[in-house]
Amino acid sequence: YLELKNVQKSFGDAHIIKGVDLAIEKGEFIVFVGPSGCGKSTLLRLIAGLEPITSGQLMLDGRDITWAPSGKRDLAMVFQSYALYPHMSVYDNMSFALKLAKVDAAEIKTKVERAAAQLNLTNYLQRTPKELSGGQRQRVAIGRAIVRAPKVFLFDEPLSNLDAALRGNTRVEIKKLHESLGATTIYVTHDQVEAMTLADKVVVLKDGLIEQVGSPLELYDRPANRFVAQFIGMPS
Ligand code: ATP
Ligand code: MG
Repeated sequence: YLELKNVQKSFGDAHIIKGVDLAIEKGEFIVFVGPSGCGKSTLLRLIAGLEPITSGQLMLDGRDITWAPSGKRDLAMVFQSYALYPHMSVYDNMSFALKLAKVDAAEIKTKVERAAAQLNLTNYLQRTPKELSGGQRQRVAIGRAIVRAPKVFLFDEPLSNLDAALRGNTRVEIKKLHESLGATTIYVTHDQVEAMTLADKVVVLKDGLIEQVGSPLELYDRPANRFVAQFIGMPS
């Protein structure tokens, strides 16, 4: 499982993540919530290895990954801006990381086709991103992550560019995928409805620190303080 031990991050003299301790069980769906600027994306980037940590330790299944390069962490991240390769087909976008890892072509084909079927993208594999809707693009970005079969999925506000109807559908798909893959997921959102419907455990962050960790029900029933109560109760 994934463990964060007193993780801290400063940019220059701005202390952004001020000491986060968190233990995430295998297969859990964890949602980070908190106000804009509290450090949600930064924490995700530290876990992904896209940003070096200032102090503390990261462990994945007993392995110290604090200083492991991003590509060696067995994690896959899906961003809000999908950052697809615009000139490549959906198939090539989804197979890119596997090609880099020198997986053979037949195995790549099997994996990409399976992921495409799960994401309703089978009929779009030869299109380029500009020929897709926003929701389809977002599913390609998710597909790119799942073909790698990582131990941990990291999502940074993956639905925020979608309209309300698509957001609902894609949310359900992400939850189903999480369950069918048996993966561990960390999901950042500032949408309380998303947090409450997706999470096994919600982590409420404020100003670089954890205010409370608990199931959605626990946070509703027993908020640790006024901030959590207001944040959780706030209509989105
Ligand atoms: P939002 O909900 O708006 O996405 P967030 O919780 O994801 O907010 P972060 O993006 O983690 O917030 O940013 C936390 C703080 O760290 C902000 O004050 C931001 O300006 C600062 N920060 C983030 N990245 C950098 C960087 N590379 N250099 C300097 N400061 C940064
Ligand atoms: Mg953010």
